[in-house]
Amino acid sequence: MTSDSALNRRSFLARSAAGAAVPAVAALAGGVLARPASAATLPDFAPIPPSALGPPLNGHGYFVGRVQKNLYWVTDGTYQAAFLTTGEGVVLFDAPPTIGHNLQRAINQIASANRVSNRVTHVVYSHHHADHVGASSLFGGQVVRVGHVETKRLLARENDAKRPVPLPDVTFETKRTLRVGGERIDLAWHGTNHTPDNIYIHLPDHDTLMLVDILLPGWAPYNSFNVNEDVAGSVAAPARAMTYRWKHFIGGHMGRLGNRHDMVVYQRYVNDLIANIKKALAAVDPTPFFTRYGNNSWAAVQAYQAAQIELAAAPVIKEYTGVLAAADVYTASTVFPLLEWIRLDLGFDSQIHP
Ligand SMILES: [Zn+2]
Repeated sequence: MTSDSALNRRSFLARSAAGAAVPAVAALAGGVLARPASAATLPDFAPIPPSALGPPLNGHGYFVGRVQKNLYWVTDGTYQAAFLTTGEGVVLFDAPPTIGHNLQRAINQIASANRVSNRVTHVVYSHHHADHVGASSLFGGQVVRVGHVETKRLLARENDAKRPVPLPDVTFETKRTLRVGGERIDLAWHGTNHTPDNIYIHLPDHDTLMLVDILLPGWAPYNSFNVNEDVAGSVAAPARAMTYRWKHFIGGHMGRLGNRHDMVVYQRYVNDLIANIKKALAAVDPTPFFTRYGNNSWAAVQAYQAAQIELAAAPVIKEYTGVLAAADVYTASTVFPLLEWIRLDLGFDSQIHP
């Protein structure tokens, strides 16, 4: 492979949302993927609305741009990080492995254009997930890593990567203001949402909020409601985000920055799903499923819930196709965790035997 084609393959993988998931899926599917897939027989999906896409990537496979003043963001089209240049060095926010060495390339590019230091002195972790902080080790042992106390605990518990993610040196429980080179960064933990440790990173002097894996601007959530660990906390997070003062939103994903309108559309999407799930829970008659499958209770429940999911998802997919990219790809999978939350935690439509 020439270095050019290696680079193209890398940036293709980096751009593909499924890139990181492919090995896991292949392992789960066993021999099935041994047969080559044919692109011609794969299903069609609705076109991506142009509003979902960001600026084009350069030859290395990244884009770096200004958010506001000395705050910048970097993307590979699927993942995002950000950095702040200061009088003392650079504060980096997250280090996704898909961007990898392009993080320092992007910092070098901006630092040399602005004649400021390109030396990363701090890395702030949004949460412990390896797909967002897995390249932190590239910045060596001298940088100060900052994260929630639970991020440190979870990384210490689950770190069995080939190149372990360095633990935060500085932790906090609810609030911490970082001051580096005259710049202000407000970190806050408002309870569990996507993960138990996912924090709000507010840059009040840059009109920016970074909150990862909640709103993915322009896109429907990733599989199963962004694999959010706490559904209630994740449903509540956008309203909390809106209490902050910001114009620019860094969601950790996809190719562009967000704004307050994106958050409003996302809240509406989730609320529409919840309303439709409540309707579907009440509307689908379980009788035929249990008649058909008899004492195979799981078959009956699976088919019954599949019918509820289909009924709840269909109108939302229709309404948001052309508004949120991939609404037709992942909405049905997002219905399931929401449906279980509504059924199990909210106790909606639970019936007591007479
Ligand atoms: Zn995550």
